[in-house]
Amino acid sequence: MTTTPTGPEGVWILGDQLHPQQAALASLAAVPPERIPVILIESSAWANRRNYHQQKLVLVWSAMRHFAQELRDRSYPVTYVEAEGFAEPLQAWAKQEQLRHIRLMQPADLPFRAEVEKLGSQLPCPISQIENNHFLWTSRQFIGWATGRKRLLMEDFYREGRKRFQILMEGNKPLGGRWNYDSDNRQPPKAGMRYPQPLTFPPDAITQAVIQKVEQFHGQHFGSLAGFGWAVTRSQALQALEHFINERLPHFGPWQDAMETGEDFLYHALLSPYLNLGLLTPSEVIAAATAAYRAGGIPLASAEGFIRQVLGWREYMRGLYEYQMPNGYDQHNFFAHERPLPSFFWTADTDMACLRHTLKQIQRHGYAHHIQRLMILSNFALISGIQPQAIEAWFHDVFIDSYDWVMQTNVIGMGLFADGGLLASKPYAASAKYIHKMSDYCHNCRYNHSEKVGEYACPFNTFYWDFLSRHRSVLAPLGRMGLVLAHLDRMEPELMAQIQAQAAAWWERLPSTPSERSPSPVQSVR
Ligand code: FAD
Ligand code: SF4
Repeated sequence: MTTTPTGPEGVWILGDQLHPQQAALASLAAVPPERIPVILIESSAWANRRNYHQQKLVLVWSAMRHFAQELRDRSYPVTYVEAEGFAEPLQAWAKQEQLRHIRLMQPADLPFRAEVEKLGSQLPCPISQIENNHFLWTSRQFIGWATGRKRLLMEDFYREGRKRFQILMEGNKPLGGRWNYDSDNRQPPKAGMRYPQPLTFPPDAITQAVIQKVEQFHGQHFGSLAGFGWAVTRSQALQALEHFINERLPHFGPWQDAMETGEDFLYHALLSPYLNLGLLTPSEVIAAATAAYRAGGIPLASAEGFIRQVLGWREYMRGLYEYQMPNGYDQHNFFAHERPLPSFFWTADTDMACLRHTLKQIQRHGYAHHIQRLMILSNFALISGIQPQAIEAWFHDVFIDSYDWVMQTNVIGMGLFADGGLLASKPYAASAKYIHKMSDYCHNCRYNHSEKVGEYACPFNTFYWDFLSRHRSVLAPLGRMGLVLAHLDRMEPELMAQIQAQAAAWWERLPSTPSERSPSPVQSVR
């Protein structure tokens, strides 16, 4: 006969749930901390599931270790385990503490939610999931907003959010009379611009211990650990936020789409790793930007441009994930693209300057800004015909801020239009013309940004026109494609045939597929 444990309720905290008011802890606010056993688990099986960037492993584990220490300082009895998987340490902890119940904040990622369901039957006490409070909109609220709508436009959702949370509003009207300053925010880089460097934090003893562990056991993973300087505590993340608001936000708006050789960050926030771990909340980030605008010195276009990213895009992407993943969103492949991921995505060994610069930057920091992700990386994958799930897996591996909830909709939907237009009204496909306008990459490239065929033709041009011609029939009904398709229709058939032949030849010349060239043995076990 089994006896029902009569001990306390415990809290299991995941690596991306590191806020002191996270839902599972908050749900026990009436109980004194010393009577709430807490567990955090560093799982090597989780780390080896993917070819995660080494800096991501250090960031997550160091932030977990610091958070455990902060909870101990607040009198919580914390169990911190380094283990292979989750089941064994959870079983041992539940037995040792005689737990009657485990509370877990609902994981943001659906695959992890499914893991928790499986784990449930292996534990000596029940486990329940408390609604995730790391976003402004609950998934139920988003689904309520989305259900029955003909279109799921981000702009509609964003305006609803402005009104609902009363952000940059004057009564029912947007502050300054406009909802959106996007059209003011598309300036290319200017010669002689100076970019204040982001705040970095030298690794303390805890971080150094994690760095050693990652070097020793996960050194075959992607990316470099050199110069690791990410914030690993909430207090450091708050300093990083303040530094961004004071130093870079004033210029964020106009240059948020710009790219420049040798400049890895420009005026971007670098706050996504902290928001996604729970070290910062979206409401405090928005409040800081709003307060800075109201105090003066920050143009409305910059404040609004930044707030739109957090209140609009971030919440919208997460809401759509919750709404659409049960319908198999991650498997969409609208254009039936099946090319493999070229090996240079891992090595940066390419003569295309824009890709080389961006890929090296990702090796250095696990970071690229939005336009590099959208208009260089996923644009190339889209127009060259790489399989959406292959590029999504790569994005998930190499970025410091990647999680399933943010990756699927951004890559499958926004980057690749593989969902056929659920999220975007038309594909973000572009030739070298866009890259040449918004960056200086083309100045130092062996390719010519204005040629479509021939030895020096930029592959972005060749693939762009090849993509349009391959998919003309499905692109035509989308709207906003008229001009470019009219241009395509005027193209001489001989030129089109040369473009198509050159696009096919590019793939034939590629040295090898990624499974042969991947830098990490982890790849082969997936
Ligand atoms: P800033 O440009 O300064 O923006 C401020 C904040 O807005 C970000 O910190 C982020 O929290 C939020 N934000 C802006 N756009 C988005 C968006 N589309 N989705 C979610 N949040 C957004 N973001 C991630 O957090 N993780 C990812 O793995 C990720 N992968 C992406 C893949 C693709 C193909 C694309 C097009 C975008 C992806 N994004 C992802 C969104 C966005 O590019 C990053 O959030 C942003 O570049 C992070 O850098 P930052 O903090 O300097 O952002
Ligand atoms: Fe990239 Fe083409 Fe410009 Fe080279 S010429 S940097 S490949 S867009």
